Amino acid sequence: MRLLHDLRDSLLHLAYPHLCAGCGSDALTTDVPLCLRCLSHLPLTGFERHAYNPVDRLFWGRIPLFAATAQYYFSKESIIQRLMHGIKYGGAEELASFMGTLMGRQLALVPRFDTVDALVPLPLHRSRMKKRGYNQAELLCKGMAAAWERPVWADVSERNSATETQTRKGRVARWQNMEGRFAVADPARLEGRHLLLIDDVVTTGATLEACGRALLAVPGVTLSIATLCIAAS
Ligand SMILES: [Zn+2]
Repeated sequence: MRLLHDLRDSLLHLAYPHLCAGCGSDALTTDVPLCLRCLSHLPLTGFERHAYNPVDRLFWGRIPLFAATAQYYFSKESIIQRLMHGIKYGGAEELASFMGTLMGRQLALVPRFDTVDALVPLPLHRSRMKKRGYNQAELLCKGMAAAWERPVWADVSERNSATETQTRKGRVARWQNMEGRFAVADPARLEGRHLLLIDDVVTTGATLEACGRALLAVPGVTLSIATLCIAAS
């Protein structure tokens, strides 16, 4: 029986090669998209445990946050860069939700995030959603919810119109370009809630700030932010 089982696994492996999303190795256990070596080399920030961490500070004087964190450092040619590329362009939906599970496990251990009521993914504009087929922030949320008992409220925040590629603009220009781009769909549901806004990466924080501002316009909303990684701006 065991032999048949192993044989079936080997045949499946030949038919559907299951490779590590970090290094390409095939030394994977089932259902996990990263090998143990890559998992142990993910560059954790440890920010979630510390108030006044660099993500908290990024938003000082911009929007009032209860707590903010990013789980990993993003640097060029790192595992995280390869994973982010996979999540954004490679159709790696399984990978995005797995990374979300890692975020959820981490935040579930930290008292700073105890009072969070719901996870809100930063919305993608409809046209980009069509192109990619999924919102990576929403997949992160779904993964998080699997490891941390929090609901995902994916439909409460909406993006009004497509924004052009912003990579080369300064913070003020980006902010002006972002203003009014987000709307809240169901304010009554959000009143008095602690929302955790989720995205894959924080760089200047302009998009998260704009979306956060729309959420904070609802009476009694407390806002926190968590991203998968932080990149130097
Ligand atoms: Zn690997």
